[in-house]
Amino acid sequence: MEASSAEPPEGPGDAPAAAAAAALESMRFLLLGGTAAPVEGVNLETDASTQYAAIVLTKRTAPAELLDTLAQAQDPAVPIADFSGSRPLRSDYVSSKYDAESVAEMRRQFAPIWRRLEKIPFRAKREERDPLTLLRLIYSRNTPAKATFVPDDPLVVQYPLLGAAAGTRRELESLAALGLLNRHHFMRTHACSKCGSARLNVYEACPGCGGADLTEEALVHHYRCGCQEPESHFTQGLLLICPKCRRELRHLGVDYGKPGNIVVCRSCGAENSEPLVNFICLDCSTVTPSDRAAATDWYDYDLTDAGMAALREGRLPHVELGPQSGHGTRAYSLAEFQLLATQEVQVARQFGRPFAVARVTIVNIDAVRRELGPVATDAAFKLAVDKIVEVVRSSDFIGVDDGNAVVIAFPETPVTDLGLIEQQIRQVVHDAAAPFELAFEFAEGNEVVAMFAQR
Ligand SMILES: [Zn+2]
Ligand SMILES: [Zn+2]
Ligand SMILES: [Zn+2]
Repeated sequence: MEASSAEPPEGPGDAPAAAAAAALESMRFLLLGGTAAPVEGVNLETDASTQYAAIVLTKRTAPAELLDTLAQAQDPAVPIADFSGSRPLRSDYVSSKYDAESVAEMRRQFAPIWRRLEKIPFRAKREERDPLTLLRLIYSRNTPAKATFVPDDPLVVQYPLLGAAAGTRRELESLAALGLLNRHHFMRTHACSKCGSARLNVYEACPGCGGADLTEEALVHHYRCGCQEPESHFTQGLLLICPKCRRELRHLGVDYGKPGNIVVCRSCGAENSEPLVNFICLDCSTVTPSDRAAATDWYDYDLTDAGMAALREGRLPHVELGPQSGHGTRAYSLAEFQLLATQEVQVARQFGRPFAVARVTIVNIDAVRRELGPVATDAAFKLAVDKIVEVVRSSDFIGVDDGNAVVIAFPETPVTDLGLIEQQIRQVVHDAAAPFELAFEFAEGNEVVAMFAQR
């Protein structure tokens, strides 16, 4: 029944087939970016405020125009056919010519997408439209959102299924934190320390001069005098002469050995067994040592059952904020805390409000445990958590991580305002009996999601 509108007619005189043909005729497509020669049986529309089954691009279209259209579309996951070669954002069908044959093929490919879209009509509150659109694209195309290398993009990774909109990765990470998407690791990229580009060339560098003109040489060890240097220092014509004692080396394993290789810099002559690994940016030529290049982990994402449920309900899951029953504290498990905090990040982003999270780690927990024993340590930790709950505001909330760290969320608060509360927490924890040493880590806005992702 639901499939009939999308299937081609079976043959003349067949009543259901005739109905299907009529349905095909009545189906409207939105034409973007210019004009198109008429194709029989194709109903093109240019009014973006109406309902349409697909977007058809026949002329080169700016990504911003398509984004605007999708932002107003009744269904933002509507399939897109690109007959223009402009490949803006996402497309579900690509052809170089627009004619009856290619339109028929487009309809054939869109049929399963239409069926799935029809099964779950799109519903979303304005502030949840973008994340629910991502879920809907994954659902309706019946495929995970796969990360793909795109050398044209300075980030070098995109999700073709979802389009090249900014912030897609961040949105996906939020949805994964809410349990709506499963992640599978794709690749780790590194960023230029100056411009952020991930288009980097990796090379081994001389620790002395930073140059890349390195060569590997065998090390020669003259047993008799103990001299150990690169082979080239021994070479004189066809002979090996020790640069220290001037004796000739004749028999490998008898008067000399080769204990390994060494890297020699041809620029400055420095010898080193461990060259540095550096990145040079292909966009701005800045050199970033590999250990100082910020790493980004990219994942493929697939829908979970909770993700399907969110789509059906047309809303993201929300956790009720309220005191945990029993102990009279507002301390949550880490999982609950993450859910709440992710929700707060979205609210903060939507309304341009500040939101900060502090992670307070007890750095000497093992030492304290050895000193006081586990029972007294756990009791002191619980007391410390209660004291922290007392000093934070009623709108703040707390998560407890494994008995050695506490995370605190501060809605409506920028990180710069957390200095006083840090002092207060240090004071009350100090007064709570155990000699805990605290380390504070702060994150703000979108960094909060990254803070969880690192762990
Ligand atoms: Zn750069
Ligand atoms: Zn050098
Ligand atoms: Zn020697």
